[in-house]
Amino acid sequence: MLQSQLIFGVGCFFALLAAPLKADELLVRDGRYIHLTTDIASAEEAENLVASFDAAVPQWIQFWNLSADAVANFKVKACVIRNKTDFNQRGLIPVTVPNFPFGYAMRSQIWVMAQQSEYYTRHLLLHEGVHSLAYHLFNGAGPTWFQEGSAELLATHQGSGAETKINQIPQRREDAPYWGRFKRMGQATESGEVPSFNAVLGYQPNLTGDVATYSWSWAACMVLSSYPEYRSAFVKAAQQGKKTGPSFNRKLQSSLGKQWPILAARWRLACHDLNYGFDWNREQVKLSANDPLWDGSDLEIQVRPDQGWQSCGVRIPQGAKIRITAEGEITLANQPKPWTSEPPGITFQYHRGRPLGQLQFCLLPNANDPQAKRIDPIEVHGVNDQPMIDVAQYSWLLFRINDECGKLDDNRGNYQVSIKRAR
Ligand SMILES: [Zn+2]
Repeated sequence: MLQSQLIFGVGCFFALLAAPLKADELLVRDGRYIHLTTDIASAEEAENLVASFDAAVPQWIQFWNLSADAVANFKVKACVIRNKTDFNQRGLIPVTVPNFPFGYAMRSQIWVMAQQSEYYTRHLLLHEGVHSLAYHLFNGAGPTWFQEGSAELLATHQGSGAETKINQIPQRREDAPYWGRFKRMGQATESGEVPSFNAVLGYQPNLTGDVATYSWSWAACMVLSSYPEYRSAFVKAAQQGKKTGPSFNRKLQSSLGKQWPILAARWRLACHDLNYGFDWNREQVKLSANDPLWDGSDLEIQVRPDQGWQSCGVRIPQGAKIRITAEGEITLANQPKPWTSEPPGITFQYHRGRPLGQLQFCLLPNANDPQAKRIDPIEVHGVNDQPMIDVAQYSWLLFRINDECGKLDDNRGNYQVSIKRAR
């Protein structure tokens, strides 16, 4: 959360687990980019927080394509807090700071509520630190989605202390206890409440630390920063941090121009698949507005098990009827042992309710309604369950192999897929 926001809520996830330190027992630790005051009981954790922050700052600068000079005078005064009342009484939280459920940033000062896991406390400290850096570098952090999304992006990390690597999706749920971003996104998916990309861009600043809002803002920033063709526009947008109104989005949209519908299509796929271990290098989907319309001739494609969704390279016209057949063998190098699979999948090993190794397809509509607040979930089918397809609207036809998120890198082989006009 950031100073420019109105904050009404007080919903909290933190708990006062340990007895607070006595008045003279606040821990103070000084680093290169952070001066930390805290009542957490563990000096080791406090030192780890300082080392993590100091490791993150040069990576943030690199992310924004700036030189080290940009942070020569950057240093935050940070409070990591268990007993907020005590910090209030000591005058360590000025009365001008609104009630905050997780954290708050005001220029070079940040306040963070200690959480039930070190990972989550560290995440929030980094998150508020990104806000503070945005003030320092850009005089602000842009509209809500950009402000919170970029803070989430650059706070999400693997490792800790000097080994902290920012902008890394945790590999496993156990690596990030209580952080809960994917859990909340999964709930939204279940209840059909996944926002459209444009709805995220329109988020209003009256946040109450709502995890869903933060998570989708993060996802939007991931899509924009992970695809090389959007990245420079995204990084450049940060320079406009002072703008919090619609002109910020308009400028970004105009710099991405015709890529916007492709971005919206990729958004739908990412929302379907994002989870622990998600690897953007393998999950970038090759789509283009210039993909030719399918002329009905036979298509052959190789579908690899070490990549996410793979397009057959054409757009399928509305009303087309197609038949898909597939053959081949792949190896999924999953623990405790590798599995060999054919297109129907391994029917005694399941992922997301379907056989592991199953060849799947989905139809991804070319068009999307820019006014829609929510997106329809993509429908995924097993090729062997549904080899004949009636195409209801102009769509890309995509394939992938069913495997756990984050387990693609050691998969081998491919399926040969043949697409024909149905007779
Ligand atoms: Zn924030």
